[in-house]
Amino acid sequence: MSFDLATRLAERRAAHLYRQRPLLDSPQGPEVQVDGQRLLAFCSNDYLGLANHPEVIRAMQQGAEQWGVGGGASHLVIGHSTPHHALEEALAEFTGRPRALLFSTGYMANLAAVTALVGQGDTVLEDRLNHASLLDAGLLSGARFSRYLHNDAESLGKRLDKAEGNTLVVTDGVFSMDGDLADLPALCAAARRKGAWLMVDDAHGFGPLGATGGGIVEHFGLGIDDVPVLVGTLGKAFGTAGAFVAGSEELIETLVQFARPYIYTTSQPPAVACATLKSLELLRRESWRRDHLNQLIARFRQGAAEIGLTLVDSPTPIQPILIGDSQRALRLTALLKQRGLLVGAIRPPTVPAGTARLRVTLSAAHTAAQLETLLDALAECWALLGQEDSGRA
Ligand SMILES: *Cc1c(COP(=O)(O)O)cnc(C)c1O
Repeated sequence: MSFDLATRLAERRAAHLYRQRPLLDSPQGPEVQVDGQRLLAFCSNDYLGLANHPEVIRAMQQGAEQWGVGGGASHLVIGHSTPHHALEEALAEFTGRPRALLFSTGYMANLAAVTALVGQGDTVLEDRLNHASLLDAGLLSGARFSRYLHNDAESLGKRLDKAEGNTLVVTDGVFSMDGDLADLPALCAAARRKGAWLMVDDAHGFGPLGATGGGIVEHFGLGIDDVPVLVGTLGKAFGTAGAFVAGSEELIETLVQFARPYIYTTSQPPAVACATLKSLELLRRESWRRDHLNQLIARFRQGAAEIGLTLVDSPTPIQPILIGDSQRALRLTALLKQRGLLVGAIRPPTVPAGTARLRVTLSAAHTAAQLETLLDALAECWALLGQEDSGRA
């Protein structure tokens, strides 16, 4: 017996699901150099345009000079340095919670939080459309694992009725492929009725949502009693890297003591924490980025509706254009690319079968003129796609 990888890869290609990595040869920003081509990009998660901000870059440079490059060891050995600690304190203050714990990636923060809180004999209930890292965490935990209908407190309630042991309800705050918001007030109420805990992963909400960028909990005015476990990631609107879990003293100590994805890994480079301290300051203080982003979102939705595109009910910088068929989604991105625009096509298994889409993401770094360029190109390419379809029919 041998692994027949060639067949597996060929099948993937035949299903129009083959993935390729565009080679970026410039910093993040609206105008990028990709595979040798200058393109106007609408696919980054750098929602506030902080990934290439001069002050954040300077903070990282100064951090590297003061603290060196490598984290050196895990947090529990000798890798927990002053910048990491200062960032945890700043994130606790930002989220209005007693403590926050820093992780190197959001994937690991999610694995850590779920596996430290539930195990055999317990229950974990997740939204069907949760991020892959949350679903993987639920499986890894060994708890009874069930997925409720998307954003449906009633469907959650039925599963809560059958839950055993400690029960953790887990949801994205902003759903990463659709951009819609979790109905936290309803989900909180359902969880609370059954004494379950709610964990929210707000990777895409911190920064764009809330008056001070405090994400979906700030948007809905919810506190630690409503959402005991709050996760944020730092590679999106913060423009840097890493993630955090914010919660009670006891929650954070439990993670430090028991969460294997926290314990058995090297701390992130301290200079990255220095950069994040700066981007956190900008994110909170300079609300013009959120204001400008919200104007872009409103204009995009209006323009796309005029073209006749199918949007999702999303108030966030994630603005999917639903296409359905993977091949058509790929064709539309190819037409856009010919016109100098880069938009990602998202296909199954990342999204459910038959819901391939273009995932347009907007950033405060985009100008109003760049957005008009996108809308003009979308109008033209959408018409072309329609002509091609009727030509084949
Ligand atoms: C991106 C993302 C993650 C993973 O965070 P990384 O820091 O990139 O590993 C987790 N959850 C959600 C909802 C995300 O969108």
